[in-house]
Amino acid sequence: MPEGPNGRTFYQRVVNATPGGKSLAQCLQCGSCGGSCPSGPDMEHTPRQLFAMIMAGMEDEVLSSNTPWHCVSCYYCTVRCPQQIPITDLMYTLKQMAIARGKYRESGHVDFSSSFIGMVERFGRSFELGLATRYHLTHNPLKMVSKGSLGLQMMLKGRLSPLPESIRNMPQLTAILTEAKRIAAQQEV
Ligand code: SF4
Ligand code: SF4
Repeated sequence: MPEGPNGRTFYQRVVNATPGGKSLAQCLQCGSCGGSCPSGPDMEHTPRQLFAMIMAGMEDEVLSSNTPWHCVSCYYCTVRCPQQIPITDLMYTLKQMAIARGKYRESGHVDFSSSFIGMVERFGRSFELGLATRYHLTHNPLKMVSKGSLGLQMMLKGRLSPLPESIRNMPQLTAILTEAKRIAAQQEV
């Protein structure tokens, strides 16, 4: 099997970068994950297929797959997996790796993810109006017209905040995120 940095295989790097990732070796290929996934129809590979490809060392194919980018982190697959494999966390690892290697093809997903993380780092929570506005202005300005009236209706009904609101203990969250980044920097993806 081809080896990457530090002589570790792709499979070993994915497992090492994912909390609880060692259980991936116990995958039964039962398909419960794909059968539970609401994003399945949009995915090029089901989670089960992706895991078989990881084990086969198909690094380029896995990191180029759109599957992790269509994962909406609902954790449904993780709850249903008979082997308690952290499927959702594995999807995050694959996204990180795809970004690090420049393998992703759908930059819209990466921009959306970066904007979301930026808002969480700044306010401690998502700011839907800012997130949607920034994303659509960059990637689909025409959609702003149809989305604009929907956003206005939501604001009038108090379902959408016109301004970002910070959580109370922002310094505590900042400390947690800083530590998480420090740990992530030590991991080889
Ligand atoms: S549900 Fe779990 S054991 Fe079954 S294919 Fe998916 S990851 Fe593997
Ligand atoms: S967490 Fe992701 S992969 Fe799992 S069921 Fe939800 S969308 Fe699908």
